[in-house]
Amino acid sequence: MQEAHSYRFIISDVKVIGTWDFTKPARCIVCNLKIREEEKKVYCPFCGLPAHRDHLLEWLKIKGFCPNCSKPLDIKEVRKW
Ligand SMILES: [Zn+2]
Ligand SMILES: [Zn+2]
Repeated sequence: MQEAHSYRFIISDVKVIGTWDFTKPARCIVCNLKIREEEKKVYCPFCGLPAHRDHLLEWLKIKGFCPNCSKPLDIKEVRKW
């Protein structure tokens, strides 16, 4: 289990908030494409779903809320992840 844990930490490069089923392909909640392991991703702190980091930042500049759960997200908070 130790190996799996460190692997997850390296690929995500962000704090994992809540639980995420890594057996499902992670789809970006902005563009709906699969997020590859080497791509930077962030998670919505409310619904826990992933997005490409750049896509969510661009989305929040315009919309200011999560595209999945519609909770307001602060772009500054997302940048910290
Ligand atoms: Zn995307
Ligand atoms: Zn959300």
